[in-house]
Amino acid sequence: MLLTGTGRLAPAGLSPWAIVVRDGRIAWVGDPADAPPDAERIDLGHALVTPGLVDSHTHPVFAGDRSDEAAARLEGAPYTEGGILRTVRETRAADDATLERLVEARLRAALAAGTTTVECKSGYGLSLDEELRHLRIIGRVAGRVPLRVVRTFLGAHAVPPGTSAAEHAAHVADDMIPAVGREGLADFVDVFADDGFFDLDAAERIGRAAAAAGLGLRLHAEQLTRTGAAELGVRLGAASVDHLEQLDEAGVRAVAASSTVATLLPAPAIVLRDRLPPARALLEAGASVALASDANAGTFGGFGAMPLVIGLGATLLGMTVVEALTAATSGGAAALRRDDVGALRPGTAADLVAWDAEHEGAFALRLGSVRPSRVWISGEEIGLSG
Ligand SMILES: [Zn+2]
Repeated sequence: MLLTGTGRLAPAGLSPWAIVVRDGRIAWVGDPADAPPDAERIDLGHALVTPGLVDSHTHPVFAGDRSDEAAARLEGAPYTEGGILRTVRETRAADDATLERLVEARLRAALAAGTTTVECKSGYGLSLDEELRHLRIIGRVAGRVPLRVVRTFLGAHAVPPGTSAAEHAAHVADDMIPAVGREGLADFVDVFADDGFFDLDAAERIGRAAAAAGLGLRLHAEQLTRTGAAELGVRLGAASVDHLEQLDEAGVRAVAASSTVATLLPAPAIVLRDRLPPARALLEAGASVALASDANAGTFGGFGAMPLVIGLGATLLGMTVVEALTAATSGGAAALRRDDVGALRPGTAADLVAWDAEHEGAFALRLGSVRPSRVWISGEEIGLSG
């Protein structure tokens, strides 16, 4: 298959452009005048074309609605783990079919907005049985949707009632992670390492158990307080440290000097009226930066918001549009330790999106309203209904 266009192929900025797809992968990229002939030729005209977006941080397995809590917080109520525990109660009460329907709807909304690879965390179960149930639900839904799904076990998302953070961390490290590893239910382990959640000792214990089980590590770090979780992630070889709203200069230097990706989540920072992460400082220090949605039950509910997230990166976070788009494609892929998605170069998966726009600047200009007109995953066009 030969795809061509007279518009822009971003973030590389090639125009005009041509891509040859063979066996679901990109075989060649270049000027249409040099393209090998192909029987199947699709001309995308002036449309902006990008790699499929990679959303490397989402929490889609939950039931219930916490819009009331968001409203109360904006009137001054604090953000505590009580909100997560409310979702845990409602999610535990939901049967498999209900949760599968909810997760599938959320992933289809993400796909309809141009996300072709999505990371999905458990973490609203907190008990061994519930966490395993949620990871299996993600796996079953992954088999029914065309997106590429990466699973992350987040048993240390909050401290369940009746136990301490240290006790729960020990249970996660000693019982849950070995079970997740044995059953092959996740690629990564995540920890909410913050004040009022899990301290650095607890996070380190969980991180070492993840490594022992052959699972990658990612951390919720430096969101509410500057704890040193970013440096811990670097020391443990985490694929990514996520949030970083409170990161200071020393933290920026530590992340930039490592292969750990800095994953920035502007949407919940706005909803929580929090500080914004130091995107410019991270980029200038040479860090790998990803942008992700953090779509979840309580602090940002937008599944299908990645075009908005790119726009927020380019406006609020002070990134250029190309930096923001790169962070939402190859940056997200790096955060998931994947080199087969997030870029259009020979050898990568033919996951691409043609947008209802002519230039990547539309992600900033039309904040949140740029939509895909056509999407391909592994070279197969995906129907976008509704
Ligand atoms: Zn999160």
